[in-house]
Amino acid sequence: MTLASQKLTALDLGVDWRNSFAQLGPRFYTPLAPWPLPTPYWVGRSSSVARELGLNAAWLNSPELLEVLAGNQPLVGTQPLASVYSGHQFGQWAGQLGDGRAILLGETAGLEVQLKGSGLTPYSRMGDGRAVLRSSIREFLCSEAMHGLGIATSRALCVIGSDAPIRRETMETAAVVTRVAPSFIRFGHFEHFSHHDQPEQLKILADHVIDRFYPACRNSENFAGNPYAALLEAVSERTADMVAQWQAVGFCHGVMNTDNMSILGLTIDYGPFQFLDGFDPSHICNHSDTQGRYAFNQQPNIAYWNLFCLGQALLPLIGEQELALAALESYKTVFPAAFERRMFDKLGLADASASTASLDRALLQDLLQLLAKEKVDYTIFWRRLSHASAGTDASSVRDLFVDRTAAEAWLLRYSERMAIIPPGLATDLMLKNNPKFVLRNHLGEQAIQSAKEKDFSQVDTLLMLLESPYEEHPGFDDFAGFAPDWASSIEISCSS
Ligand code: AMP
Ligand code: MG
Repeated sequence: MTLASQKLTALDLGVDWRNSFAQLGPRFYTPLAPWPLPTPYWVGRSSSVARELGLNAAWLNSPELLEVLAGNQPLVGTQPLASVYSGHQFGQWAGQLGDGRAILLGETAGLEVQLKGSGLTPYSRMGDGRAVLRSSIREFLCSEAMHGLGIATSRALCVIGSDAPIRRETMETAAVVTRVAPSFIRFGHFEHFSHHDQPEQLKILADHVIDRFYPACRNSENFAGNPYAALLEAVSERTADMVAQWQAVGFCHGVMNTDNMSILGLTIDYGPFQFLDGFDPSHICNHSDTQGRYAFNQQPNIAYWNLFCLGQALLPLIGEQELALAALESYKTVFPAAFERRMFDKLGLADASASTASLDRALLQDLLQLLAKEKVDYTIFWRRLSHASAGTDASSVRDLFVDRTAAEAWLLRYSERMAIIPPGLATDLMLKNNPKFVLRNHLGEQAIQSAKEKDFSQVDTLLMLLESPYEEHPGFDDFAGFAPDWASSIEISCSS
Protein backbone atom coordinates (compact mmCIF):
# COMPACT_ATOMS: atom_id res chain seq x y z
CA MET A 1 0.00 0.00 0.00
CA THR A 2 1.31 3.47 -0.76
CA LEU A 3 0.31 6.79 0.64
CA ALA A 4 -0.81 8.07 -2.70
CA SER A 5 -3.19 5.20 -3.23
CA GLN A 6 -5.23 5.18 -0.05
CA LYS A 7 -5.65 6.26 3.51
CA LEU A 8 -4.43 4.14 6.33
CA THR A 9 -7.28 2.47 8.14
CA ALA A 10 -7.21 1.26 11.69
CA LEU A 11 -7.63 -2.19 10.24
CA ASP A 12 -4.43 -1.87 8.21
CA LEU A 13 -2.58 -1.57 11.49
CA GLY A 14 -4.07 -4.90 12.47
CA VAL A 15 -5.85 -3.39 15.46
CA ASP A 16 -9.02 -1.60 16.47
CA TRP A 17 -8.20 2.01 17.36
CA ARG A 18 -11.62 3.25 18.50
CA ASN A 19 -11.26 5.01 21.81
CA SER A 20 -13.53 4.59 24.79
CA PHE A 21 -12.95 8.12 26.11
CA ALA A 22 -15.01 9.37 23.18
CA GLN A 23 -17.99 7.46 24.61
CA LEU A 24 -18.11 9.78 27.62
CA GLY A 25 -19.92 12.40 25.61
CA PRO A 26 -19.37 15.80 24.04
CA ARG A 27 -18.85 17.71 27.29
CA PHE A 28 -15.57 15.89 27.77
CA TYR A 29 -13.78 16.85 24.58
CA THR A 30 -13.69 18.53 21.20
CA PRO A 31 -13.31 16.22 18.22
CA LEU A 32 -10.50 17.42 16.00
CA ALA A 33 -7.65 16.21 13.86
CA PRO A 34 -3.96 16.89 14.42
CA TRP A 35 -2.26 19.56 12.36
CA PRO A 36 0.01 18.33 9.58
CA LEU A 37 3.72 18.38 10.38
CA PRO A 38 5.90 19.34 7.41
CA THR A 39 8.90 17.19 6.40
CA PRO A 40 8.60 14.64 9.20
CA TYR A 41 11.43 12.27 10.10
CA TRP A 42 11.98 9.66 12.79
CA VAL A 43 14.05 10.81 15.74
CA GLY A 44 13.54 7.89 18.10
CA ARG A 45 11.36 4.81 18.29
CA SER A 46 10.68 2.25 20.99
CA SER A 47 10.12 -1.25 19.69
CA SER A 48 9.05 -2.38 23.14
CA VAL A 49 6.15 0.12 23.14
CA ALA A 50 5.31 -0.91 19.57
CA ARG A 51 4.98 -4.49 20.77
CA GLU A 52 2.68 -3.38 23.61
CA LEU A 53 0.47 -1.76 21.00
CA GLY A 54 0.51 -4.83 18.79
CA LEU A 55 2.38 -3.02 16.01
CA ASN A 56 4.94 -5.15 14.27
CA ALA A 57 8.48 -4.06 13.45
CA ALA A 58 7.64 -3.51 9.79
CA TRP A 59 4.97 -0.97 10.73
CA LEU A 60 7.31 0.82 13.06
CA ASN A 61 9.65 1.35 10.11
CA SER A 62 6.98 2.29 7.62
CA PRO A 63 6.61 5.70 6.00
CA GLU A 64 2.84 5.29 6.37
CA LEU A 65 3.04 5.16 10.15
CA LEU A 66 5.42 8.13 10.11
CA GLU A 67 2.78 10.16 8.26
CA VAL A 68 -0.03 9.06 10.59
CA LEU A 69 1.88 9.87 13.76
CA ALA A 70 3.10 13.17 12.33
CA GLY A 71 -0.57 14.10 11.89
CA ASN A 72 -0.33 14.17 8.10
CA GLN A 73 -2.51 11.19 7.35
CA PRO A 74 -5.78 10.40 9.11
CA LEU A 75 -6.30 7.01 10.59
CA VAL A 76 -9.68 6.07 9.15
CA GLY A 77 -12.16 4.84 11.73
CA THR A 78 -10.70 6.67 14.70
CA GLN A 79 -12.18 9.60 16.57
CA PRO A 80 -9.31 11.98 17.38
CA LEU A 81 -10.08 14.49 20.11
CA ALA A 82 -8.69 16.98 22.60
CA SER A 83 -10.07 16.63 26.13
CA VAL A 84 -11.02 19.41 28.51
CA TYR A 85 -9.82 19.59 32.09
CA SER A 86 -9.04 22.23 34.71
CA GLY A 87 -6.66 22.33 37.63
CA HIS A 88 -4.53 24.01 40.26
CA GLN A 89 -1.23 25.36 38.99
CA PHE A 90 1.43 26.36 41.51
CA GLY A 91 -1.13 26.24 44.28
CA GLN A 92 -3.73 28.46 42.59
CA TRP A 93 -6.96 27.56 40.85
CA ALA A 94 -6.14 28.01 37.15
CA GLY A 95 -9.61 27.50 35.69
CA GLN A 96 -10.17 25.67 32.45
CA LEU A 97 -7.18 24.06 30.82
CA GLY A 98 -7.22 21.00 28.59
CA ASP A 99 -5.18 19.25 25.93
CA GLY A 100 -3.66 22.40 24.52
CA ARG A 101 -1.23 20.62 22.26
CA ALA A 102 -2.20 16.97 22.58
CA ILE A 103 -4.65 14.91 20.55
CA LEU A 104 -5.98 11.53 21.58
CA LEU A 105 -5.58 9.66 18.32
CA GLY A 106 -7.18 6.41 19.36
CA GLU A 107 -6.96 3.46 21.66
CA THR A 108 -5.62 0.00 21.09
CA ALA A 109 -4.59 -2.96 23.22
CA GLY A 110 -6.16 -1.12 26.17
CA LEU A 111 -3.85 1.86 25.66
CA GLU A 112 -4.68 5.41 24.63
CA VAL A 113 -2.41 6.76 21.92
CA GLN A 114 -1.83 10.51 22.12
CA LEU A 115 0.12 12.86 19.90
CA LYS A 116 1.79 15.70 21.82
CA GLY A 117 2.78 18.83 19.93
CA SER A 118 0.20 18.19 17.23
CA GLY A 119 -1.22 21.69 16.83
CA LEU A 120 -3.74 24.13 18.26
CA THR A 121 -6.87 22.99 20.05
CA PRO A 122 -9.69 24.95 21.70
CA TYR A 123 -7.67 24.58 24.92
CA SER A 124 -4.37 26.02 23.69
CA ARG A 125 -4.85 29.38 25.44
CA MET A 126 -1.73 31.45 24.66
CA GLY A 127 0.30 28.50 23.37
CA ASP A 128 1.09 27.60 19.78
CA GLY A 129 0.02 23.96 20.04
CA ARG A 130 3.49 22.75 19.28
CA ALA A 131 6.37 21.15 21.16
CA VAL A 132 10.05 21.58 20.33
CA LEU A 133 12.51 18.81 19.52
CA ARG A 134 14.40 19.31 22.78
CA SER A 135 11.43 18.77 25.11
CA SER A 136 10.06 15.96 22.93
CA ILE A 137 13.30 13.98 23.14
CA ARG A 138 13.33 14.51 26.89
CA GLU A 139 9.76 13.24 27.26
CA PHE A 140 10.42 10.24 25.01
CA LEU A 141 13.59 9.16 26.80
CA CYS A 142 12.33 9.84 30.30
CA SER A 143 9.11 7.89 29.79
CA GLU A 144 11.11 4.87 28.79
CA ALA A 145 13.72 5.48 31.50
CA MET A 146 11.03 5.50 34.19
CA HIS A 147 9.53 2.33 32.79
CA GLY A 148 12.98 0.74 32.79
CA LEU A 149 13.34 1.73 36.44
CA GLY A 150 10.04 0.01 37.23
CA ILE A 151 8.17 3.26 37.99
CA ALA A 152 4.58 3.66 36.84
CA THR A 153 4.57 6.02 33.86
CA SER A 154 3.05 6.88 30.52
CA ARG A 155 5.16 5.36 27.75
CA ALA A 156 6.40 6.85 24.50
CA LEU A 157 6.31 5.09 21.14
CA CYS A 158 8.32 7.61 19.17
CA VAL A 159 9.48 11.14 18.51
CA ILE A 160 9.02 12.58 15.06
CA GLY A 161 10.99 15.68 14.13
CA SER A 162 10.40 18.35 11.52
CA ASP A 163 12.27 21.32 10.13
CA ALA A 164 9.26 23.56 10.87
CA PRO A 165 10.50 26.51 12.93
CA ILE A 166 9.06 27.10 16.41
CA ARG A 167 9.65 30.21 18.46
CA ARG A 168 10.66 29.82 22.10
CA GLU A 169 13.43 31.92 23.69
CA THR A 170 15.28 31.22 20.45
CA MET A 171 14.11 29.68 17.20
CA GLU A 172 13.89 25.90 17.45
CA THR A 173 12.22 23.14 15.44
CA ALA A 174 8.97 21.26 15.99
CA ALA A 175 8.50 17.65 17.02
CA VAL A 176 5.65 15.35 17.98
CA VAL A 177 5.81 12.63 20.62
CA THR A 178 3.47 9.67 20.40
CA ARG A 179 2.73 8.76 23.98
CA VAL A 180 0.77 5.90 25.38
CA ALA A 181 -1.05 5.10 28.64
CA PRO A 182 -4.11 3.12 29.73
CA SER A 183 -5.64 6.54 30.32
CA PHE A 184 -4.49 10.16 30.37
CA ILE A 185 -7.28 11.19 32.74
CA ARG A 186 -5.95 13.61 35.34
CA PHE A 187 -7.06 14.90 38.75
CA GLY A 188 -7.87 18.05 36.76
CA HIS A 189 -10.58 16.24 34.78
CA PHE A 190 -12.48 15.67 38.02
CA GLU A 191 -11.80 19.20 39.23
CA HIS A 192 -13.20 20.52 35.97
CA PHE A 193 -16.65 18.96 36.28
CA SER A 194 -16.83 19.55 40.00
CA HIS A 195 -15.85 23.19 39.77
CA HIS A 196 -18.23 23.81 36.89
CA ASP A 197 -21.02 22.22 38.90
CA GLN A 198 -21.74 19.34 36.55
CA PRO A 199 -22.41 16.44 38.93
CA GLU A 200 -23.76 14.20 36.18
CA GLN A 201 -20.57 14.47 34.16
CA LEU A 202 -18.54 14.02 37.32
CA LYS A 203 -20.34 10.76 37.98
CA ILE A 204 -19.95 9.57 34.39
CA LEU A 205 -16.22 10.22 34.66
CA ALA A 206 -15.81 8.56 38.04
CA ASP A 207 -17.83 5.51 36.98
CA HIS A 208 -15.77 5.22 33.80
CA VAL A 209 -12.52 5.28 35.78
CA ILE A 210 -13.81 2.83 38.40
CA ASP A 211 -15.25 0.36 35.90
CA ARG A 212 -12.17 0.35 33.71
CA PHE A 213 -9.34 0.69 36.18
CA TYR A 214 -10.53 0.29 39.75
CA PRO A 215 -13.32 -2.32 39.67
CA ALA A 216 -12.46 -3.44 43.23
CA CYS A 217 -13.80 -0.08 44.47
CA ARG A 218 -17.30 -1.43 44.00
CA ASN A 219 -16.62 -3.97 46.76
CA SER A 220 -14.39 -1.98 49.06
CA GLU A 221 -14.14 -3.21 52.65
CA ASN A 222 -13.14 0.17 54.07
CA PHE A 223 -15.78 2.08 52.15
CA ALA A 224 -18.61 -0.37 51.57
CA GLY A 225 -21.33 1.15 49.43
CA ASN A 226 -19.22 4.21 48.56
CA PRO A 227 -17.12 3.40 45.49
CA TYR A 228 -16.08 7.06 45.15
CA ALA A 229 -14.46 7.18 48.56
CA ALA A 230 -12.85 3.86 47.70
CA LEU A 231 -11.58 5.42 44.46
CA LEU A 232 -10.02 8.30 46.36
CA GLU A 233 -8.33 5.82 48.68
CA ALA A 234 -7.04 3.71 45.79
CA VAL A 235 -5.69 6.75 43.91
CA SER A 236 -4.04 7.96 47.12
CA GLU A 237 -2.31 4.62 47.52
CA ARG A 238 -1.09 4.46 43.94
CA THR A 239 0.12 8.06 44.08
CA ALA A 240 1.92 7.36 47.36
CA ASP A 241 3.70 4.41 45.84
CA MET A 242 4.69 6.37 42.74
CA VAL A 243 6.08 9.32 44.70
CA ALA A 244 7.95 6.92 47.03
CA GLN A 245 9.68 5.57 43.95
CA TRP A 246 10.50 9.08 42.70
CA GLN A 247 12.09 9.94 46.03
CA ALA A 248 14.05 6.69 46.17
CA VAL A 249 15.52 7.08 42.70
CA GLY A 250 16.10 10.85 43.00
CA PHE A 251 13.53 11.94 40.42
CA CYS A 252 12.23 15.49 40.53
CA HIS A 253 9.06 15.98 38.43
CA GLY A 254 9.16 19.77 38.40
CA VAL A 255 5.49 20.68 37.68
CA MET A 256 3.21 18.75 40.02
CA ASN A 257 0.15 20.81 39.15
CA THR A 258 -3.12 18.91 39.58
CA ASP A 259 -3.57 18.83 35.81
CA ASN A 260 -0.33 16.87 35.60
CA MET A 261 -1.42 14.20 38.11
CA SER A 262 -2.64 10.94 36.61
CA ILE A 263 -5.75 9.33 38.08
CA LEU A 264 -3.91 6.01 37.59
CA GLY A 265 -0.86 7.05 39.62
CA LEU A 266 1.33 7.23 36.53
CA THR A 267 4.15 9.69 36.06
CA ILE A 268 2.92 11.93 33.25
CA ASP A 269 3.67 15.22 31.49
CA TYR A 270 7.42 15.24 31.44
CA GLY A 271 8.62 18.82 31.33
CA PRO A 272 11.37 20.33 33.45
CA PHE A 273 12.03 17.03 35.30
CA GLN A 274 15.48 16.10 36.54
CA PHE A 275 17.25 13.17 38.10
CA LEU A 276 19.39 14.50 40.92
CA ASP A 277 23.11 14.64 40.30
CA GLY A 278 24.42 15.61 43.74
CA PHE A 279 22.02 14.81 46.59
CA ASP A 280 20.45 18.16 47.39
CA PRO A 281 17.08 17.51 49.05
CA SER A 282 15.82 21.02 48.35
CA HIS A 283 16.82 20.96 44.69
CA ILE A 284 14.48 22.86 42.33
CA CYS A 285 14.66 21.57 38.78
CA ASN A 286 12.08 23.89 37.21
CA HIS A 287 13.62 27.23 36.34
CA SER A 288 10.15 28.87 36.51
CA ASP A 289 9.50 27.55 40.03
CA THR A 290 10.88 30.59 41.85
CA GLN A 291 9.32 29.66 45.21
CA GLY A 292 10.54 26.06 45.15
CA ARG A 293 7.00 24.73 45.51
CA TYR A 294 8.03 21.64 43.55
CA ALA A 295 11.48 21.17 45.07
CA PHE A 296 12.59 17.54 45.34
CA ASN A 297 11.85 17.21 49.06
CA GLN A 298 8.44 18.89 48.72
CA GLN A 299 7.09 16.27 46.33
CA PRO A 300 5.55 13.93 48.93
CA ASN A 301 3.62 16.81 50.55
CA ILE A 302 2.57 18.27 47.23
CA ALA A 303 1.20 14.90 46.13
CA TYR A 304 -0.94 14.92 49.26
CA TRP A 305 -2.06 18.49 48.60
CA ASN A 306 -3.05 17.44 45.08
CA LEU A 307 -4.94 14.42 46.40
CA PHE A 308 -6.78 16.79 48.71
CA CYS A 309 -7.91 18.77 45.64
CA LEU A 310 -9.07 15.51 44.09
CA GLY A 311 -10.95 14.71 47.29
CA GLN A 312 -12.69 18.06 47.15
CA ALA A 313 -13.61 17.47 43.54
CA LEU A 314 -15.07 14.05 44.39
CA LEU A 315 -16.98 15.34 47.40
CA PRO A 316 -20.34 15.66 45.60
CA LEU A 317 -20.10 11.94 44.86
CA ILE A 318 -18.57 10.83 48.17
CA GLY A 319 -21.18 12.74 50.15
CA GLU A 320 -19.56 13.12 53.56
CA GLN A 321 -16.40 15.08 54.17
CA GLU A 322 -15.30 12.66 56.89
CA LEU A 323 -15.28 9.82 54.38
CA ALA A 324 -13.13 11.80 51.97
CA LEU A 325 -10.70 12.65 54.75
CA ALA A 326 -10.60 9.01 55.84
CA ALA A 327 -9.82 7.94 52.27
CA LEU A 328 -6.98 10.45 52.06
CA GLU A 329 -5.49 9.13 55.31
CA SER A 330 -4.20 6.11 53.43
CA TYR A 331 -1.57 8.33 51.81
CA LYS A 332 -0.07 9.09 55.20
CA THR A 333 0.58 5.44 55.93
CA VAL A 334 1.34 4.13 52.44
CA PHE A 335 3.87 6.80 51.48
CA PRO A 336 6.24 6.44 54.45
CA ALA A 337 6.01 2.66 54.37
CA ALA A 338 6.64 2.49 50.63
CA PHE A 339 9.51 4.97 50.83
CA GLU A 340 11.16 3.14 53.70
CA ARG A 341 10.86 -0.22 51.98
CA ARG A 342 12.45 1.19 48.81
CA MET A 343 15.27 2.78 50.76
CA PHE A 344 15.91 -0.38 52.77
CA ASP A 345 16.06 -2.29 49.48
CA LYS A 346 18.60 0.23 48.21
CA LEU A 347 20.63 -0.44 51.34
CA GLY A 348 20.37 -4.19 50.74
CA LEU A 349 18.60 -4.81 54.05
CA ALA A 350 17.11 -8.05 52.82
CA ASP A 351 16.13 -9.11 56.35
CA ALA A 352 14.57 -5.78 57.39
CA SER A 353 11.84 -6.46 59.96
CA ALA A 354 10.15 -4.85 62.92
CA SER A 355 13.02 -5.94 65.15
CA THR A 356 15.68 -4.23 63.01
CA ALA A 357 13.54 -1.19 62.17
CA SER A 358 14.88 1.36 64.63
CA LEU A 359 18.50 0.52 63.84
CA ASP A 360 17.81 0.56 60.10
CA ARG A 361 15.99 3.87 60.25
CA ALA A 362 18.88 5.50 62.08
CA LEU A 363 21.32 4.10 59.53
CA LEU A 364 19.23 5.52 56.68
CA GLN A 365 18.64 8.94 58.25
CA ASP A 366 22.32 9.40 59.08
CA LEU A 367 23.28 8.40 55.56
CA LEU A 368 20.85 10.84 53.93
CA GLN A 369 22.23 13.61 56.12
CA LEU A 370 25.76 12.74 55.15
CA LEU A 371 24.90 12.65 51.45
CA ALA A 372 23.08 15.98 51.69
CA LYS A 373 25.88 17.68 53.61
CA GLU A 374 28.31 17.08 50.79
CA LYS A 375 25.84 16.84 47.90
CA VAL A 376 27.33 13.48 47.02
CA ASP A 377 26.31 12.15 43.61
CA TYR A 378 23.15 10.22 44.42
CA THR A 379 23.14 7.58 41.66
CA ILE A 380 26.88 6.89 41.79
CA PHE A 381 26.85 6.59 45.57
CA TRP A 382 24.19 3.87 45.57
CA ARG A 383 25.70 1.94 42.70
CA ARG A 384 29.15 1.96 44.29
CA LEU A 385 27.66 0.91 47.63
CA SER A 386 25.95 -1.99 45.86
CA HIS A 387 29.25 -3.21 44.45
CA ALA A 388 31.06 -2.64 47.73
CA SER A 389 28.51 -4.81 49.52
CA ALA A 390 29.78 -7.76 47.49
CA GLY A 391 32.91 -7.65 49.63
CA THR A 392 35.26 -5.61 47.50
CA ASP A 393 36.71 -2.79 49.52
CA ALA A 394 34.61 0.24 50.27
CA SER A 395 37.21 2.84 49.29
CA SER A 396 35.30 3.73 46.11
CA VAL A 397 32.39 4.75 48.32
CA ARG A 398 34.47 6.54 50.91
CA ASP A 399 36.26 8.49 48.16
CA LEU A 400 32.99 10.18 47.25
CA PHE A 401 33.17 12.14 50.52
CA VAL A 402 35.39 15.00 51.58
CA ASP A 403 34.79 14.16 55.23
CA ARG A 404 36.26 10.67 55.07
CA THR A 405 36.14 10.16 58.82
CA ALA A 406 32.37 10.65 58.86
CA ALA A 407 31.97 8.41 55.82
CA GLU A 408 34.11 5.69 57.35
CA ALA A 409 32.20 5.81 60.61
CA TRP A 410 28.94 5.30 58.74
CA LEU A 411 30.42 2.55 56.55
CA LEU A 412 31.59 0.73 59.66
CA ARG A 413 28.11 0.77 61.17
CA TYR A 414 26.72 -0.36 57.83
CA SER A 415 29.15 -3.27 57.51
CA GLU A 416 28.27 -4.41 61.03
CA ARG A 417 24.59 -4.40 60.10
CA MET A 418 25.29 -6.22 56.82
CA ALA A 419 27.30 -8.94 58.58
CA ILE A 420 24.09 -10.69 59.63
CA ILE A 421 22.65 -10.83 56.08
CA PRO A 422 23.54 -13.87 53.92
CA PRO A 423 26.25 -12.88 51.43
CA GLY A 424 24.98 -12.33 47.90
CA LEU A 425 21.43 -11.66 48.99
CA ALA A 426 22.08 -8.02 49.77
CA THR A 427 24.14 -7.35 46.65
CA ASP A 428 21.51 -8.89 44.46
CA LEU A 429 18.79 -6.75 46.00
CA MET A 430 20.91 -3.62 45.73
CA LEU A 431 21.86 -4.08 42.10
CA LYS A 432 18.16 -4.40 41.28
CA ASN A 433 17.28 -1.23 43.17
CA ASN A 434 20.21 1.07 42.48
CA PRO A 435 20.35 1.87 38.77
CA LYS A 436 23.62 2.42 36.98
CA PHE A 437 21.96 4.63 34.36
CA VAL A 438 19.52 7.49 34.84
CA LEU A 439 18.59 10.22 32.37
CA ARG A 440 20.75 12.97 33.76
CA ASN A 441 20.19 16.40 32.26
CA HIS A 442 23.57 16.50 30.56
CA LEU A 443 23.02 13.13 28.86
CA GLY A 444 19.70 14.30 27.48
CA GLU A 445 21.30 17.56 26.41
CA GLN A 446 24.11 15.81 24.49
CA ALA A 447 21.60 13.62 22.67
CA ILE A 448 19.51 16.71 21.87
CA GLN A 449 22.47 18.64 20.47
CA SER A 450 23.37 15.73 18.14
CA ALA A 451 19.72 15.30 17.16
CA LYS A 452 19.61 18.95 16.13
CA GLU A 453 22.37 18.01 13.66
CA LYS A 454 20.22 15.05 12.54
CA ASP A 455 22.43 12.51 14.31
CA PHE A 456 20.02 10.35 16.32
CA SER A 457 22.53 7.71 17.43
CA GLN A 458 22.78 9.16 20.96
CA VAL A 459 19.00 9.00 21.34
CA ASP A 460 19.17 5.33 20.38
CA THR A 461 22.08 4.62 22.72
CA LEU A 462 20.38 6.32 25.66
CA LEU A 463 17.14 4.48 24.96
CA MET A 464 19.00 1.17 24.93
CA LEU A 465 20.77 1.89 28.25
CA LEU A 466 17.75 3.36 30.00
CA GLU A 467 15.50 0.47 29.04
CA SER A 468 17.61 -1.74 31.32
CA PRO A 469 19.26 0.68 33.76
CA TYR A 470 20.16 -1.95 36.34
CA GLU A 471 22.36 -3.88 33.87
CA GLU A 472 26.09 -3.16 33.67
CA HIS A 473 26.26 -2.50 29.90
CA PRO A 474 30.05 -2.88 29.64
CA GLY A 475 31.62 -0.25 27.39
CA PHE A 476 29.07 2.43 28.26
CA ASP A 477 30.55 3.69 31.52
CA ASP A 478 30.72 7.22 30.11
CA PHE A 479 26.95 7.34 30.43
CA ALA A 480 27.17 6.44 34.13
CA GLY A 481 29.70 9.07 35.18
CA PHE A 482 29.51 12.32 37.12
CA ALA A 483 27.74 15.28 35.58
CA PRO A 484 30.18 17.71 33.96
CA ASP A 485 30.41 21.23 35.40
CA TRP A 486 28.37 22.69 32.55
CA ALA A 487 25.38 20.52 33.54
CA SER A 488 24.44 22.92 36.32
CA SER A 489 23.93 25.71 33.79
CA ILE A 490 21.21 23.82 31.89
CA GLU A 491 17.99 25.75 32.49
CA ILE A 492 14.71 23.96 31.97
CA SER A 493 11.37 25.61 32.57
CA CYS A 494 7.68 24.79 32.05
CA SER A 495 6.08 24.32 28.64
CA SER A 496 8.54 24.07 25.82
P1 AMP B 1 2.04 21.77 31.23
O1 AMP B 1 2.40 22.49 32.51
O2 AMP B 1 3.15 21.67 30.23
O3 AMP B 1 1.45 20.44 31.52
O4 AMP B 1 0.92 22.65 30.48
C1 AMP B 1 -0.18 23.24 31.13
C2 AMP B 1 -1.27 23.54 30.14
O5 AMP B 1 -0.80 24.38 29.09
C3 AMP B 1 -1.86 22.33 29.46
O6 AMP B 1 -3.23 22.57 29.29
C4 AMP B 1 -1.14 22.28 28.15
O7 AMP B 1 -1.88 21.62 27.16
C5 AMP B 1 -0.98 23.75 27.82
N1 AMP B 1 0.17 24.02 26.97
C6 AMP B 1 1.47 23.92 27.29
N2 AMP B 1 2.26 24.24 26.26
C7 AMP B 1 1.45 24.56 25.23
C8 AMP B 1 1.65 24.97 23.89
N3 AMP B 1 2.87 25.16 23.37
N4 AMP B 1 0.56 25.20 23.13
C9 AMP B 1 -0.67 25.03 23.62
N5 AMP B 1 -0.93 24.65 24.87
C10 AMP B 1 0.10 24.41 25.68
MG1 MG C 1 0.29 19.15 31.54
